Amino acid sequence: MISIDPHNEEAYSIVVFGASGGLAKKKVFPALWALYRENRLPPGFKIFTFTRTPLQTKTYRLQILPYMELDKHRDPKKYNLFWKMVQCVQGEYDKPEHYAALTEAMVHQETKHNQVRANRIFYLALPPIVFDQVTLNVSRKCSSSTGWNRIIVEKPFARDDVSYKVFQTSLCNCFRESQIYLMDHLLSRQVMQNFFALRYSNHLWGETLNNRHVAAVMISVKCELPVAVSRADYFNQFGIIRDLMTNHMIQTLAMLAMDQPYANTADDLRVERLKVLRQVLTPNIGDVVLAQYRNNRRESEPAKCGYTEHTYIPKDSFTPTFALVVLQISNRRWSGVPFILRAGKALNDTKSEVRIQYKPVDCDAFHSDGADIRNELVLRSFPTEEVFMRMRLKRHGENICLRESEINLRVDDRGPKELQGLPGFLLNVFHGDQTLFMRSDEQCEIWRIFSPVLATIDSDRPRPLHYDFGSRGPLLAYRKAERAGFVFF
Ligand code: NDP
Repeated sequence: MISIDPHNEEAYSIVVFGASGGLAKKKVFPALWALYRENRLPPGFKIFTFTRTPLQTKTYRLQILPYMELDKHRDPKKYNLFWKMVQCVQGEYDKPEHYAALTEAMVHQETKHNQVRANRIFYLALPPIVFDQVTLNVSRKCSSSTGWNRIIVEKPFARDDVSYKVFQTSLCNCFRESQIYLMDHLLSRQVMQNFFALRYSNHLWGETLNNRHVAAVMISVKCELPVAVSRADYFNQFGIIRDLMTNHMIQTLAMLAMDQPYANTADDLRVERLKVLRQVLTPNIGDVVLAQYRNNRRESEPAKCGYTEHTYIPKDSFTPTFALVVLQISNRRWSGVPFILRAGKALNDTKSEVRIQYKPVDCDAFHSDGADIRNELVLRSFPTEEVFMRMRLKRHGENICLRESEINLRVDDRGPKELQGLPGFLLNVFHGDQTLFMRSDEQCEIWRIFSPVLATIDSDRPRPLHYDFGSRGPLLAYRKAERAGFVFF
């Protein structure tokens, strides 16, 4: 974990735009507090909120308390000190003069202790509708001339390749690539970073990750909860493919499937990720299964609302809440291996994982009666972070009788848990480390992959299949995955 030099004499201003919203309260401020509590913020830091809503530090502090994990890490003195570093600024997102007032507040703090260099982080915890105004005004009115400026933008960045180009152009007109951090919270999981270590610093795994050994790869993000009322508008317009597959899941695929980078640096990783993204074939509608949850209809259980029965969702919505997409990569390493993306809401389980399924053993000495038994390397990032291998071993006893077994690779959990996730990401931004952030050309490739099929879905409005709330999803999706080459145990 990167640490901050306690003798650092530079000034750091962190501006949270949209601090009155859920993301800032639930994630950004708790992350900043975690960094402060763990002594990871440089001495000269100051946090500013910028909102249309008039906020006062005192009341804002009370609103945020439930999310600050104070019970686990009670340190009231330090907590009070943290809030002394926070200053609320009110302004309209389209008024340049309000940004000038923000800059004045920053300069006032930055020059207070004779700091010679002022560095600024701008966190856009805002809906995309205001991105353009904010980036333009920030670049014109708030950039520091004595230090670095970095901007963090939250997904969704776009709906398709065309809107992504517009977003990219307006962002790149205001900031250089090295200043832009496109945020995907799910990528912060240690497991994905561990996969990199697993592959490139061990003999065993790297050698087997190709189409000679791997039969299929499944990347899943399953969620038990239905679509939340606070995100309903957004979700209904975007659907599950845009919400999860065009960012986190395809990025996971890129991390898994890329070739070895020259070194573990942001540029080298981005070059390799881009290369493999370019080799992902564009799926067509036949490679996709779409579905929507409905009332569970089981008399024994309390009724659970179907998607279109929520009061906050239009009754005629065809927005998919479940999708399975089979992708193929056209290169020598992966040709013929399906990469299956599966994501859904209101399912039987909440979990994020990657399952790399190996081909059955040739000439199996145990003559397993034609059973298609496969080794699997599983990288689970949620709810627990673990890496394990499914193997066959001998059962205890005299006869040679095989059983399924799991070898847990025990991801070391002694590291500072508090700094995993968003706090770790923010530290990366402080240090200018863009390894886990997608570059614009990678994003363009992602939209090249998904835009055609999304356009077909938008124009043809195919009626999604139905699955029961709390089930595994539609049977047809599982049949498709099996036909593609994946075996469910
Ligand atoms: P909110 O909808 O709560 O918006 C955040 C703030 O933006 C609001 O408090 C409001 O601040 C301002 N705002 C909202 N609508 C408008 C508008 N039409 N015009 C101008 N300002 C507006 O969003 P969240 O905080 O939930 O999320 C922020 C962004 O991050 C969104 O794009 C979301 O999709 C994304 N995101 C959120 C996640 C989460 O966990 N919440 C996870 C991943 C991404 P004010 O009016 O006070 O200035």
